[in-house]
Amino acid sequence: METCSALEKKGFEVTYLPVYEEGIVKVEDLKSAIKEETILITIMHANNEIGTIQPIAEIGKIAKENNIKFHSDAVQSVGKIPVDVNELNVDLLSISSHKIYGPKGVGALYIRKRTRLEPILYGGGQEKDLSPGTENVAGIVGLGEACRLAKEELDENIPYITNLRNKLIDGILNSVEKSYINGDIEKRLPGNVNFRFTGIEGESLVLMLDAKGIDGSTGSACSSKKLTASHVLKAIGLEDVDSHGSLRLTIGPENTEEEVNTVIKEIPPIVEKLRSMSSIWEKEESLLKNNTKRCDID
Ligand SMILES: *Cc1c(COP(=O)(O)O)cnc(C)c1O
Repeated sequence: METCSALEKKGFEVTYLPVYEEGIVKVEDLKSAIKEETILITIMHANNEIGTIQPIAEIGKIAKENNIKFHSDAVQSVGKIPVDVNELNVDLLSISSHKIYGPKGVGALYIRKRTRLEPILYGGGQEKDLSPGTENVAGIVGLGEACRLAKEELDENIPYITNLRNKLIDGILNSVEKSYINGDIEKRLPGNVNFRFTGIEGESLVLMLDAKGIDGSTGSACSSKKLTASHVLKAIGLEDVDSHGSLRLTIGPENTEEEVNTVIKEIPPIVEKLRSMSSIWEKEESLLKNNTKRCDID
């Protein structure tokens, strides 16, 4: 998004597509947004906050039919679900090493043949002049090994993590009233859960969970220091109060059922405690009571 807004400042015209309540781009919207002068479509494969998976293969087909280059940010999806540049019909695909347990500071861009790029740095001739500077060999080898391991373990990890994730969702939704899931429940990364609890501050919840040894986050990690509402949660139509009551938890292959059970046990009393101190929750409850009264009279 920031790259697009930088391009706008240079005079490019950018169309931003909506994602609706499910957090997913509609292919029809994309079709009707294509103009004669459209040169590039870029849509992330999976979202880092709510884990929703976009219809990349379908969008790629449309891009190809219209002779438009297609890029996807697959940083969140690589290593978590199958990613095949041919099946996804992408011309460009970016990945990052540290999101799949590789070393920090290294990533990769897949470039399909006949996709012409301009360098963003100039000087050395490395990487066909596209990324001048001496390569970080240790980092690159680490990324390769992380990819190899991720692929090797994928078939085993997907059902294992999905099962834990679903247990976590059921456990929380069944024990905390007015708790919800942000984003589509099916078209989502196996390990991603993004809860929404009415009437609480997610930041307080994160701190209290941290004290119990449970790591979660409200917005994406890079922006969580700012207390502005997450643009992702805004894009799926949440009001500021609701987006502040959201909590992202992610599950990886090393997490256990026991840990999930601990989370299910720890969250409800914390939410209850936070609600007992919350003016938003008080309002919510009196609204509920008034509604009941009205029904009684009716
Ligand atoms: C983390 C992340 C990035 C940034 O990758 P870095 O290697 O950490 O700079 C980009 N896109 C998505 C979807 C991410 O989750």
